[in-house]
Amino acid sequence: MSDPVIVVSPSSDTPVLPLVFDSPHSGFDYPEDMRSILSKKVLRQTEDAFIDALFGHVPVLGAVLIKATFPRCYIDPNRSTDDVQVDAIDGDWPHPVINSIKTNRGAGLIFTKIQGEEVLYDRKLSVAEVENRIANYWQLYHNQLSAELDRLHSAHGQVWHINCHSMPAKGNIHAEDGEVERADFVLGDRDCTTCAPEFTNAIEEYLSGRGYDVGINFPMKGVELVRKYGRPDEARHSLQIEVNRRLYMDEVEITKNDRYAETASVLADMNAMIADFVRDRVSV
Ligand SMILES: [Zn+2]
Repeated sequence: MSDPVIVVSPSSDTPVLPLVFDSPHSGFDYPEDMRSILSKKVLRQTEDAFIDALFGHVPVLGAVLIKATFPRCYIDPNRSTDDVQVDAIDGDWPHPVINSIKTNRGAGLIFTKIQGEEVLYDRKLSVAEVENRIANYWQLYHNQLSAELDRLHSAHGQVWHINCHSMPAKGNIHAEDGEVERADFVLGDRDCTTCAPEFTNAIEEYLSGRGYDVGINFPMKGVELVRKYGRPDEARHSLQIEVNRRLYMDEVEITKNDRYAETASVLADMNAMIADFVRDRVSV
């Protein structure tokens, strides 16, 4: 097994920017103790496959890249630890519970269903195994991300964070938007609460200028990672970006499609623009 979380920093000869990208859902190192009844091929539908690779160049720009190697359906760093589905647990869950709308679809902290339908387990999970996933995966991810954000914020007085995801090309009946084709990109700042609007606007304008359609805060507005770390009044700016999977992959086979190279090139240009945006606002 690889380390659950990998942090890639700029090389020593690259000026460091207060800029962090994180990819919480691209991991596919399935822990032995997961013991799902579904095949890996079905489980892999939940991954934001290749997103860590599409953003893999950002350390060259002076940014830090943090990525999970564990799969999001084992435990999701982009959910609160309160978002536990108690009827999926054997015995009494001894911690606070606040469920989200996604919990009912089986997509809370610990996934119990794939796309609201296929059931992951033929058993209830023990309290000890859920606590282990929180302590040794979820918490580790948050520790690494918050440490990088805090370190850069204390050095520069400001920090920018891009929370990187991909979304299925179409929603389904369980999704907020239903069975419709989605925009090329969706930016989420939880209704202008997790970063300064100029940051969201700059990225929207950039992608629109390259000919893409861009949604804002619908059907995804950002969940736990931007909610927890985005505090624009403290000059901590977090923005979620969702890349439509049709722009780079075959969703059934989980392979790169013929648009991958073009999309990788556009994302490289976008991230260079983001690095310039940050560089213009700090002295490094
Ligand atoms: Zn995601």
